[in-house]
Amino acid sequence: MGSQSNNRIFIFLGAFLAVAVLAVVIAVPLALTQKDVIGGDAAINILTEVPIIDGHNDWPYQLRRHLQNEVNDIDFMTQNFSELYNGSHTDVPRMKTGKMGAQFWSCYCNCGAGGKDAVRLGIEQIDVVRRYTEANPLIFQFTTTADEIETANKEGKIACLIGIEGGHMIDSSLAALRTLFNLGTRYMTLTHSCDTPWATAFNTNKTTGLTDFGKLVVAEMNRLGMLVDLAHVSDMTMNDVFDITTAPVIYSHSSARTLCNHGRNVPDDILKRLAENKGILMVNFYNDYVTCSPHANISDVADHFDYVKNLIGADYLGMGADYDGVTRVPEGLEDVSTYPNLIRELLSRGWATDDLKKISGKNILRVMRAVEDVAKQQQSSNVLPDETWITDSEVASVCRTPT
Ligand SMILES: [Zn+2]
Repeated sequence: MGSQSNNRIFIFLGAFLAVAVLAVVIAVPLALTQKDVIGGDAAINILTEVPIIDGHNDWPYQLRRHLQNEVNDIDFMTQNFSELYNGSHTDVPRMKTGKMGAQFWSCYCNCGAGGKDAVRLGIEQIDVVRRYTEANPLIFQFTTTADEIETANKEGKIACLIGIEGGHMIDSSLAALRTLFNLGTRYMTLTHSCDTPWATAFNTNKTTGLTDFGKLVVAEMNRLGMLVDLAHVSDMTMNDVFDITTAPVIYSHSSARTLCNHGRNVPDDILKRLAENKGILMVNFYNDYVTCSPHANISDVADHFDYVKNLIGADYLGMGADYDGVTRVPEGLEDVSTYPNLIRELLSRGWATDDLKKISGKNILRVMRAVEDVAKQQQSSNVLPDETWITDSEVASVCRTPT
């Protein structure tokens, strides 16, 4: 009897243990799945209400490099661009997964073209953006204002905007600046990684920022309603712009210098000026600017959002991933389909839904409206186009016809 009763106890205990193990094996993954689904739904819900407006994507440059701007035969609705060239970050199927509402497409040409054919190269990049946008009206809508972005999104379209990445593409001419505005350009990064004759870049060996002509460029951008972009410029240029601009400014793709000490990132004292200016830091995801190393993950990028939010608040933050402009992107943020992952990460860190809507799109819409209002005010009080020419001595070269 004794051994039989022991056997029963062992059988009972064995069965109990088996059930317990089974419960753990089944319940834990179920719980995780549920958590993921709940987190995922919350992020997707936020981005369905306020889709991503990203400040900087170099897809047009990749179209130039790999496809010679030949886009007529591409089926943008379905084409996976990873099949066309290595390292692709952008195409329409992935933009839709990533809940993309609007993109500032970067029109860029390298610094070596400055003072030579940079204006032509810039125009060719504007041309390709306008062509792929206008040839695909079921997917894209070419836009130039905050209202137009919201209307396009209501119609289920991705709003497309143009940013010129480098003041070398106006060839020191306010007439060229105005003409690029008329072609649809809505921001200009004052420099790329090289000085222009009128503004210094982050890697300059000068100790000055804007020249007198550079100040006129900023004033004319304010008058036109073109966003002044301070990504890539020197700290001196940043400070000179904050001294004179009458409208909020943007950093289309820069991060926090305290977390990664690189000249492309923005130091705390200038971030405080950005908050006073009511502008926006659109955080860059490039590993080398996120961690100052070739490696980064989604948590490292979220750290930049946390840091800047703690320093100046969530009203001055946005996304400027720099996709297709960089070769190393963080684990978890591999391409334009991954923005919801970042929203999930920030949700898990306790970010409020309202703040997440601000960084996904509301902040840049607010900045755009403020810039549009400044332009309207100036134009209604009859501030005329600036007719000043840069002096010949500032731009003398064999490629330039003297005035
Ligand atoms: Zn850049």
